[in-house]
Amino acid sequence: MKIVSVVGARPQFIKCALLSKELRKGADEVLVHTRQHYDENMSAVFFKELEIPEPEYNLEVGSGSQTGRMLQGVEEILQIEKPDYVVVYGDTNSTLAGALAAAKLHLPVAHVEAGLRSFNKKMPEEINRILTDQVSSLLFCPTQTAVQNLERENIREGVHLVSDIMIDAAYHYGEKAETGSQVLERLRLKSKTYALATIHRAENADDLEHFSSILSTLDKIAREILPVVIPLHPRSYKQMKSNRLNFPSLQIVEPVSYLDMLRLEKNAKAILTDSGGVQKEACVFQVPCITLRNETEWVETVEAGWNVLAGAQEETIVRSLKKIKKGSYLPNGYEAKEKDTAKKITEILVQQFSMAR
Ligand code: UDP
Repeated sequence: MKIVSVVGARPQFIKCALLSKELRKGADEVLVHTRQHYDENMSAVFFKELEIPEPEYNLEVGSGSQTGRMLQGVEEILQIEKPDYVVVYGDTNSTLAGALAAAKLHLPVAHVEAGLRSFNKKMPEEINRILTDQVSSLLFCPTQTAVQNLERENIREGVHLVSDIMIDAAYHYGEKAETGSQVLERLRLKSKTYALATIHRAENADDLEHFSSILSTLDKIAREILPVVIPLHPRSYKQMKSNRLNFPSLQIVEPVSYLDMLRLEKNAKAILTDSGGVQKEACVFQVPCITLRNETEWVETVEAGWNVLAGAQEETIVRSLKKIKKGSYLPNGYEAKEKDTAKKITEILVQQFSMAR
């Protein structure tokens, strides 16, 4: 069985790490990196740390309007490689480009993290998810909610509830982070004395009003409540620089490696984020999380009591931070232990492949 896996952005490297290892035990995997993310600390560091194999193909799409260029690049590769399945992850432009290129060549698409919905079509990720799920033959859902979302769109065939590969990664590498990361020492942080924040969603980073409101709120929290450390995404850094924004109380650092991030999360007193992955990791590590958005795809984290939705307004963010109480983690679609998601996905792929022959 030959698989082409398409990745391109930070969360996809994390999602593919365990699956790639599992796939390569029995199948022939060809890894395509679109280089949607290309900075050393957004890409290479993850390949090294997570021991992801060197990609067989690297596209150089750069920034700007990427999806069209990726589509063309992936299509050319698929015509050469002629795989039995094309595996795509999550909800980025690389996901959509990989899925569309495959579907147009009548190659079956397997979507890892299928069925997630925010019900906000202004998010580019939501468009990527909906379209990718529409053209996928195998839809690997991390939660029961995701399965229900697909049912609502009349997608029932090829849907598999497999648990969440990102949660597996958080447990797996979370243990390694205990000894493998020196980030607390490097940033001079003491366990449970700081808040960890990330901001990168277009709705926050590209909207100057939202962006300034969130950063000035975090700055105020840093002055009045507890120190805030922010590994800042390149998109947000660009926005800060081009608008000459300055928030002197924040500890702004470059994006950190995965092991560093997991250690920062585990040791944070609270997490403030607009990232999907970080919301889940907060829940896994039982750290109270404030989501800087009005909706979330990961409703289980809110139901479990570890996550509150606060949007971009100062009052709600500060009120939520003050109100955060330790909730009890109720397993709901993903449980608080490592599962065999990569193994389950591989088994289904192998089974489907042998049935199709
Ligand atoms: N992450 C990281 N370093 C950072 C910020 C985030 O390793 O400086 C990890 C984080 O732990 C999570 C993933 O990147 O596993 C989330 O990626 P991102 O927030 O870019 O995307 P999203 O999850 O929102 O799609």
